[in-house]
Amino acid sequence: MKRGLLVVFSGPSGVGKGTIRNLFINNQDLNLAFSISMTTRKPRINEVDGVDYFFVSKEEFESAIENDELLEYAEFVGSYYGTPRAYVDKLRDEGKNVLLEIEVQGALQVQERVKDALSIFIVPPSFEELERRIRGRRSEPEEIIQQRLAKASAELEMMGRYKYVVCNDDPQLAADLTALIIKRHIQISTD
Ligand code: 5GP
Repeated sequence: MKRGLLVVFSGPSGVGKGTIRNLFINNQDLNLAFSISMTTRKPRINEVDGVDYFFVSKEEFESAIENDELLEYAEFVGSYYGTPRAYVDKLRDEGKNVLLEIEVQGALQVQERVKDALSIFIVPPSFEELERRIRGRRSEPEEIIQQRLAKASAELEMMGRYKYVVCNDDPQLAADLTALIIKRHIQISTD
């Protein structure tokens, strides 16, 4: 059986990665599985442990780093985020294409380690629109919002490091384009 593809799906915080992902993740042609990350951030309302993230303590996260259990990890606005390696490997060995929805530092680590990873970066139609979306969550204090905005600005400068850049002007269109890119790569890798 052919080993599954690794898809790095990235873009600044608030750009709408989760919304877009939900529109293509169940597309049967793509045979995708979502990699559930580990984070030390507190859950937002509606977030479920083991579904959205594995919510862990700083000690648990640091022990995962020490034991080399993470494919990549990064510190983002005061919290740790990382990809448990064993789960990704298991899914890929089963032939599943695995989607990593991660920020830029982690994405660069993966691209360094997994040379045939497919990388896609989502950009907002404008920075003003991104700010509106980040503020629209209403779940974080102003200080964190400011940090996320500064981070987003730095992250947007890294878009050239990705194979594909897709604009999220319309989430359905962005999802359709992303699905097309992934589908084509699946075809190329099985040719
Ligand atoms: P949020 O707090 O908004 O859920 O996530 C903050 C940022 O961390 C987002 O850009 C999200 O995609 C990213 N992120 C989520 N999981 C991971 C991960 O496992 N590794 C890395 N490097 N970034 C992640």
